[in-house]
Amino acid sequence: MPDQHTNQRRLFETAPRWVEDDVRRGTIATVVLPEGVDKPLDYLVPDDLAAAVEPGRRVRVPLGRGNRERIAYCVAVRGGELPQAALKSVAGVEDESPLLSPRMLDLTRWMAERWLARWGEVLEAVLPAGVRLRRKPRVVPLFVAAGAASPRQPTPAQGRVLAAAATPASAAALAAAAGTSRAVVMRMVKTGLLTAAGSAERGPAGRSVARRPISHDRPAALSADQAAALEAILDPLRRGRHETVVLFGVTGSGKTEVYLQAVEETIRHGRQAIVLVPEISLTPQTCDRFRARFGSVAVLHSHLTPTERHAQWREIAAGRVGVVVGARSAIFAPAPRLGLIVIDEEHETSFKQATAPRYHARDVAEWIARAEGVPLVLGSATPALETFHRCLTGEWTMCRLPGRVGGSDLPAVLSVDVRDTASRGRGAVSPRLAAGIRWALDAGGQVMLLLNRRGFATSIQCRACGDTSRCPQCDLALTLHQPGGRGICHGCGLVARLPTSCPSCAAPNLVPRGTGTQRLEDQIRAAFPGARVARMDTDTMRTHGSHERTLDAFRNREIDILVGTQMIAKGLDFPAVMLVGVVNADAALHLADFRASERTCQLVTQVAGRSGRGPLGGRVVVQTSTPDHPAIRAAAAHDYEAFVRSELPIREALLYPPFGSIVRLVIRSVDERAAADWAGHVADRLRAEAAGEAAIRVLGPAPAPITRLRDRFRWHVQVHGPGPDHLRDLVRRATAQLQTPDNVAWIVDVDPVEML
Ligand code: ADP
Ligand code: ZN
Repeated sequence: MPDQHTNQRRLFETAPRWVEDDVRRGTIATVVLPEGVDKPLDYLVPDDLAAAVEPGRRVRVPLGRGNRERIAYCVAVRGGELPQAALKSVAGVEDESPLLSPRMLDLTRWMAERWLARWGEVLEAVLPAGVRLRRKPRVVPLFVAAGAASPRQPTPAQGRVLAAAATPASAAALAAAAGTSRAVVMRMVKTGLLTAAGSAERGPAGRSVARRPISHDRPAALSADQAAALEAILDPLRRGRHETVVLFGVTGSGKTEVYLQAVEETIRHGRQAIVLVPEISLTPQTCDRFRARFGSVAVLHSHLTPTERHAQWREIAAGRVGVVVGARSAIFAPAPRLGLIVIDEEHETSFKQATAPRYHARDVAEWIARAEGVPLVLGSATPALETFHRCLTGEWTMCRLPGRVGGSDLPAVLSVDVRDTASRGRGAVSPRLAAGIRWALDAGGQVMLLLNRRGFATSIQCRACGDTSRCPQCDLALTLHQPGGRGICHGCGLVARLPTSCPSCAAPNLVPRGTGTQRLEDQIRAAFPGARVARMDTDTMRTHGSHERTLDAFRNREIDILVGTQMIAKGLDFPAVMLVGVVNADAALHLADFRASERTCQLVTQVAGRSGRGPLGGRVVVQTSTPDHPAIRAAAAHDYEAFVRSELPIREALLYPPFGSIVRLVIRSVDERAAADWAGHVADRLRAEAAGEAAIRVLGPAPAPITRLRDRFRWHVQVHGPGPDHLRDLVRRATAQLQTPDNVAWIVDVDPVEML
């Protein structure tokens, strides 16, 4: 800032003494830029803006030589003596009121340190786009029945509109209620049958009203285990204390009922609750149950427009919403009277954000719950090992719900060893699994088949030379999708027309290998010609609402067999499901990820729990080539804790989480050499910084398990160490002065959940 510096000095040189004295005291605002400069910057607050500049509002500040105005977040204001160096002045104020409370400012600063992110990018991430863009909510005029006798008899449609217009409503709402068009309503306004009655914000209700109706639902009388869990949550709630309570309950054990009653008590205390679910579209039943129990539920789902989201945000901030249900980012909902936070299916990886800032909603929730002095509830049939460990050390309280509600048995599980040729059968369905499907269908039950690979075939191979068709821009095999015989890359989405002969040896013998959900669906249709079959994966679920339609059809018994990816494994409760088949339990077991066993055990346990929820009972068939693997054995025995007991010592021996921390750096470049060199340089810096510290291990550089994605070569370096804080400081020091070459990009992932 040399320009300004000289200007200010010149001013001082010519100004009388008393001015200089005066200028030396003043108000300073510290601001953070959303991008660019990472460091917080100080600016002078001019007198005319003194009342408007406050922490949490955005301001306009001049930056750099050209003094270009940039929008920045004001994070602190202090008065007093000004520093020696000349300060530029705040040029203007953007927001009429703070977007962020002091607590949110503290939280975002903590998040930036915790996940080695830039404070500015965290600030941007916690505010929905609609709030940042200050979209004005749309105001719509309201109309009410005029009441005056009309010269002519109203038509039947007009009569229905008049009945609906007993209280003020928008034209759209009246048309919907009367089953007529908006034009009819507007004509009635013209002819005087309806009169204007003010206006209202078109709020989120506009959308939720159109949803399928929900029958009201009452609290159930709790079992002893449920009552104990509820008490463990309500006790800290009543005493205004923070505590983390883990609900470890098998699928169908009544966890959701406990959340519902805890939320009810929270609302009765005049407080608000935030409920996080892995993904709104995959958990329609959970959301419906909250809507059925409570009147005012704000459901924050990804299909809201920025305007709708902004409207929800304001409703929550005004304290008019009792319950907020949403995915990861709903944890930032600005509830002024927060009383409870619940995270359902807390083991799900979707709670960690995959892009910067790479935060985990569980950790953020814990920070908020601690700061607010409120309970945090984490529920799962398969808690993450990190969570389980913190219960074993006594830091968190674990409440167990070991049995299903009503005492129905967990389904019997049969493992089929597919290495055994007699068990293998033709196609992906073993004779044992086929017999199970037949048994369920004959008994009038439904079937769910899990295969966590979409597409028709998982690869296309040349029978002559053995070569596999690969994506030209990723190091991944192309998946064959039908109809059309297209090769699709699941890494980058590239769609390629498949050659008829092998690109490397020209032999015309290309064969599809492996089974995806499309092929499984074909095989099932062929084997069970009378059954009604549907498939649920990202290929069939592209449009908004398609999940709900398929799940409704399944619930209404219009589908007998549902084939799907892990999408079908989550929180669904269908009493008529008598058989669940896991077609390939090993699919994810051998990935280069230290959590591969944990994920496999969780997925198989979760999907197995969909079976036998009704009076007819149920069974599960698990096809595997490693039936003795602890993850498979535990899932087959409905004994997740047995898996935890076998896995924790392995993690401890290797100092993997939860016994150690990991920071992963991923380096990408279109130039393979540049990626490798830079990864080597980063690893050297880390090693130099870690010199003499026996507890710190720097692994790599090495090519990442997915060595190329979207034409970028990928290398990674991992740093392992005992505690997260020390490790983060080390990485921060080692990377602080790096001058990254132009053709290289790199990211830091603290506590990664994705290791590929
Ligand atoms: P989870 O969330 O653990 O899968 P849910 O809360 O969904 O379990 O409970 C499974 C089923 O049992 C649901 O249909 C629920 O309405 C019912 N339920 C839960 N608790 C009770 C109870 N105490 N009495 C009767 N039915 C209950
Ligand atoms: Zn690709």
